[in-house]
Amino acid sequence: MIRVEQSTNLKAKPPQGELGFGKYFTDHMFMLDYEASQGWHDARIVPYQPLTLDPAAKVFHYGQTIFEGLKAYHGSDGRVRLFRPEANIARMNRSNVRMSVPELDSELFLAALERLIEVDAAWIPSEPGTSLYIRPFVIATQALLGVAPSEQYQFAIIMSPVGAYYPEGINPVRIFVESEHVRASVGGVGEAKTAGNYAATFMSQQTAKESGYTQVMWLDSAQHRYIEEVGSMNVFFCIDGKVCTPALSGSILAGVTRSSIIQLLESWGIEVLERAITIEEVYEAGRAGLLEESFGTGTAAVVSPIGELCWRGEQLLIGDGRTGALSKRLYDTLTGIQYGTVEDRFGWMRETGLQGIIRSDIME
Ligand SMILES: *Cc1c(COP(=O)(O)O)cnc(C)c1O
Repeated sequence: MIRVEQSTNLKAKPPQGELGFGKYFTDHMFMLDYEASQGWHDARIVPYQPLTLDPAAKVFHYGQTIFEGLKAYHGSDGRVRLFRPEANIARMNRSNVRMSVPELDSELFLAALERLIEVDAAWIPSEPGTSLYIRPFVIATQALLGVAPSEQYQFAIIMSPVGAYYPEGINPVRIFVESEHVRASVGGVGEAKTAGNYAATFMSQQTAKESGYTQVMWLDSAQHRYIEEVGSMNVFFCIDGKVCTPALSGSILAGVTRSSIIQLLESWGIEVLERAITIEEVYEAGRAGLLEESFGTGTAAVVSPIGELCWRGEQLLIGDGRTGALSKRLYDTLTGIQYGTVEDRFGWMRETGLQGIIRSDIME
């Protein structure tokens, strides 16, 4: 069902210590086309190559495009596993529906992921903390300037070996709370992983970086009070012994990591409140010494502790500014499950059948 055209011009692989994030791409990519008359068709794995598109292709003008992000991990037992691919596939189809893109066949999508990983297995890095980042995406390719859904699409999967997110150990970041610009609004497309949501954040992100902050914390569009996300991560707070995270209000991306963190915490008997959280409340808790921890969650970093906030010029130190015990435990457990050193009691890891080298080290 999936045709494979092997590359005859294999690329040199970068040293694992220099991978960084999203800089290098494997030798092959998956492609699938859509025509209104034929549906999705011509599933193929081909050498990694540029796409040729008509300048009138709708993706360039109206932004009809969606992406996903997930990882395959080389376990310390040598086995290669995908983390919750079904969740990413389901989310992509929800994004597709929101952006008027025809849904993908979930089984074909999963088969494409598995086959592509197999073809490019030599690219799965094995050093501690490394992984194979997988980027599925769809673009509207019809050459027509009418403001209406495209009748042609291309779906592709590209893969990038990525380095350890915390080469010097997990460390808290400083976050700038954006009180003017917003990322998304209820009723809009904030819960779809679509390109415009990200381009719209670059301006705030740059301003925050220039002031020494790593990322931006987003507030709701109507009142600029309710906390939504941090950069492109979901966010959690531990206040006075309770864990809370913004409820999925319609403008928040439903992170796979977010849902995994909630399930992990609940399995430890720690209740997670999904509710509306105001920035005032967080500052009040902080001033009262009740804000114990805060962290972001996402596929790239898994857990990213937050050490400091800055909102309307007022700085707030969280905990003692160092990685909190719960953040550390969540990070260690989730990465442990991903690298196969902690038992996967949730059935999150999908075996690929690939066997690489067995690492003698054990992830911390
Ligand atoms: C992808 C993304 C997340 C995190 O989702 P994961 O599935 O955990 O990687 C959170 N917020 C935004 C805006 C995102 O794009």
